[in-house]
Amino acid sequence: MSGTVGDRDSAQWWERLARGEFVVQECDGCGGRRFPARAFCAGCRAEAWHWVRVDPVGRVETWTIGHRPFPEGTVVRIRLAAVPDATVFGGWAGERAPEYGQRVAAVLTTDGSRPLLRWRPRSG
Ligand SMILES: [Zn+2]
Repeated sequence: MSGTVGDRDSAQWWERLARGEFVVQECDGCGGRRFPARAFCAGCRAEAWHWVRVDPVGRVETWTIGHRPFPEGTVVRIRLAAVPDATVFGGWAGERAPEYGQRVAAVLTTDGSRPLLRWRPRSG
């Protein structure tokens, strides 16, 4: 696939994202979940793992406002609810500026060839 980014493990993550699946790794040794993709578990050192789908929700941890017109100006860093020690970057899809600790959900789209991950405010 052209436009694939990242190493072997993260390439699989992007492929799944392109299909609308938001996944993290789950360790076959201890059951710990991790993101971004790594070859082995930092907790128990096991190398066996599988993907598991999780709710793509979390909270805004911080953000930066870019000065380029493309892609989108604001990039947020999200603390994943499903994996509390993991953060995910993405574009901002809110109508107003993000707020610290704001609850968000992922918006999965593509730009035609690559998956795009953005985050929008969610209530509750
Ligand atoms: Zn483990």
